[in-house]
Amino acid sequence: MTEQWRVTVDRDVCMGSGVCLGMAPEHFGFVDQRSSPKAELVEPDERVIDAAESCPIEAILVRAASTGEILAPEQ
Ligand code: SF4
Repeated sequence: MTEQWRVTVDRDVCMGSGVCLGMAPEHFGFVDQRSSPKAELVEPDERVIDAAESCPIEAILVRAASTGEILAPEQ
């Protein structure tokens, strides 16, 4: 079985810039003007990593679902 990723957005710090929606519209959407992952568990997709790396305040966290290892943003 393929490893899945767990995607979370810290909505308390998201400032609604929309960068993540522009980079990975399949994975992020706005809810009350804050980004929210469309699914918590996703198949590996580099666009999710790119979005997490591009968020100006690192509100997006991508982890390996099985181990919790942080995949993005880079620490
Ligand atoms: S890029 Fe970051 S700050 Fe901008 S909408 Fe997405 S999570 Fe929020």
